[in-house]
Amino acid sequence: MDRYPSEFAFELRTCRWAERAWPPADAGDVDSDRAIVVARQLGTKRRRWDTIVLECDRDGLRKRARFGPERLDSDLLDLVRNAPTEWAYYRDCLPEPDYPWRYVREAIHRADDRGILETRKPGNRIEIRRKWPYPDWLERIVAIENKPDLDASAATALGAQLEYDVAVGLADEVWIATQRTDERIEPVLFEDLPVEAGILALEPETLTAEVAWYPRSLAVDEPGTRILERPDGGRHDGSAARFEYIDPTAKRETRLAIAERAYERGWRSFVDTMRHDCRHFQLHTRDGHQLEPYCVAKGRCQTAAECSGNCGDFEPEPPAWRTRGWPIEGGPGKRCRQLLEDRRRRRRPGLSPLD
Ligand code: SF4
Repeated sequence: MDRYPSEFAFELRTCRWAERAWPPADAGDVDSDRAIVVARQLGTKRRRWDTIVLECDRDGLRKRARFGPERLDSDLLDLVRNAPTEWAYYRDCLPEPDYPWRYVREAIHRADDRGILETRKPGNRIEIRRKWPYPDWLERIVAIENKPDLDASAATALGAQLEYDVAVGLADEVWIATQRTDERIEPVLFEDLPVEAGILALEPETLTAEVAWYPRSLAVDEPGTRILERPDGGRHDGSAARFEYIDPTAKRETRLAIAERAYERGWRSFVDTMRHDCRHFQLHTRDGHQLEPYCVAKGRCQTAAECSGNCGDFEPEPPAWRTRGWPIEGGPGKRCRQLLEDRRRRRRPGLSPLD
């Protein structure tokens, strides 16, 4: 079987498959009635995952939409979760922050501008009132690493990353998605990977997938262990690994922050980091639906790294394109962005479509 042209193109297919088919049909007791939000290239400062699947409570996800398509950062989350149902002076109702109150006031103004918090100012004091309760919308986070062609050296590097994920326990499950082969036993099963990670054999053209190895649920509600340093493994290296604990409250907050970013970005945001203002940039349709970036100059799906200001083939779209028949300002590049944004919104129940 031919190997897939690039990891980036494979990653987009994994996202598309997850959006259509998660959870895998044979993945045991996973609740298939949950709503799914898929995003890519998100995580923490230390670890970024290729694909993220949020399994969400359907009603909660719809209620989350009342707060708008943009993420709520930690300051806004503090506000909407602690704002009272009756008017109150903000310092009386919010928990004492571990930073100056003026930052809280800034967050109140931002929340007011976004229409997600009620504020009034009788005299000198800002009073706030909750508009809606912030819903409990996130149920599980699934992290997927995409490796269409997992050879031994890629498996070694990936193995260390997955061990880190298992020790920290920030995601409920970690998976590797690899391209299905014609072998009776998928070769990836012979690699030295943590047994807790699931393995998905994906056929990217037909978007069919089989579970080659089932994952174990990770202990997201228990303290995690962050591996800071490992012994290098030499013959005379008797040193111990260095690590630190992460408490469950910090993990809960980090999970919600990741989920909020995933809600905002989705997986079609690849266009934001590509040169969609280049005359060679197009979106091609795969399987009658998926919009995939395509470079006319290269004659194929370009990677996000290629499609940058450094690309030798870059040519700006001619100004005339921006006035000839395109239904919105800005020409074809902008139109591509709007198409993708429109699809992202359709996957967020409760958000109104773009005008
Ligand atoms: S020519 Fe370069 S910048 Fe233009 S679409 Fe192709 S890869 Fe992107």
